[in-house]
Amino acid sequence: MGPLALRPPGTPERNVRAMVFESPGSGLRLDAHRDEPTPGPTELLVHVRACAVCRTDLHILDGDLPAPRFPRILGHQVVGVVAAMGNEARGFRIGDRVGIPWLGWACGVCPWCRSGRENLCDRAEFTGYGRDGGLAEQIVADAAFVFPIPSEFGDAEAAPLLCAGMIGFRALRLAGSGPRLGFYGFGAAAHLAIQVARHRRQDVFVFTRPGDLEGQRRATALGARWAGGSDELPPEPLDAAVVFAPVGDLIPVALRATDKGGTVVCAGIHMSDIPAFPYRILWEERTVRSVANLTRVDGREFLDVAKVAEIRAGTTRFALEDANEAVAAVRSGRLDGSAVVVPSLPPSTHEGRGAARTGPP
Ligand SMILES: [Zn+2]
Ligand SMILES: [Zn+2]
Repeated sequence: MGPLALRPPGTPERNVRAMVFESPGSGLRLDAHRDEPTPGPTELLVHVRACAVCRTDLHILDGDLPAPRFPRILGHQVVGVVAAMGNEARGFRIGDRVGIPWLGWACGVCPWCRSGRENLCDRAEFTGYGRDGGLAEQIVADAAFVFPIPSEFGDAEAAPLLCAGMIGFRALRLAGSGPRLGFYGFGAAAHLAIQVARHRRQDVFVFTRPGDLEGQRRATALGARWAGGSDELPPEPLDAAVVFAPVGDLIPVALRATDKGGTVVCAGIHMSDIPAFPYRILWEERTVRSVANLTRVDGREFLDVAKVAEIRAGTTRFALEDANEAVAAVRSGRLDGSAVVVPSLPPSTHEGRGAARTGPP
């Protein structure tokens, strides 16, 4: 700790650890000597307790999306504790536990914001992309875009609710209330969405990669009425399908499984190209649409449902230094739930906790 005593007065401490993204394809690098971030007037300084990794992080790392400004700290499913506040920040106190989602800021005055669609704001800023995110010990976030975290959820369990949960919830809303829902892909978002759908008494049909019997077993354990490969048709037509996997080939597949008047919702920020398909599988008023980002209303309503429905996120925890392993685990598609980075864990710790309620509570 000697060097701290030699700091000239007024210079910030440079001892904050973060995993930093510096160029596409190169993964994340540990920087153990970052300046403590300073909250602006409307912002909170938050000490990070958990940050879940999302497929969107993979798309940013791989250069599938336009590059952010470098260096950038990724991570937009952040749970932490308020450590300092700007003098115009409202709604929280020092010591409160908060969640920081993907929508980090919206302007409030553009036509999208004024029509209840701040998820489409012309000037939106996204956490862990346009703003620094939570794969770090500290983060600043605008207080107006932060959620209180219900005490029912532990830090690591709450983190995946902030994107996988909230954007999955928005996808469910766009899929409508028909009783037969299909999910293509069964990663972190689908793990949470199936619990919401079951709470609403919708039947869920889950499609995994052909031959992924482990994924199908996990889906059944979480209440899927049927689980099979994406090369199979469901036992009855679907009222709607949500495509969680970033695979454009699945759009005509999902359309073929969907009944007249049904909707196919693309839940990801990036997808491989959708192949040409015959008009007759879209005919009869089927709809294909995407879901983009979230609004604060989605976030608040989802947290309320998550509490009532006792949503449980399966988590595998990683130390901050092991964030690249967490990213690789998400890429593998074989996790039981979400990969969550916990800065307080010592390096090379991996702890898994499944979402399925297989035993006594
Ligand atoms: Zn996300
Ligand atoms: Zn706006």
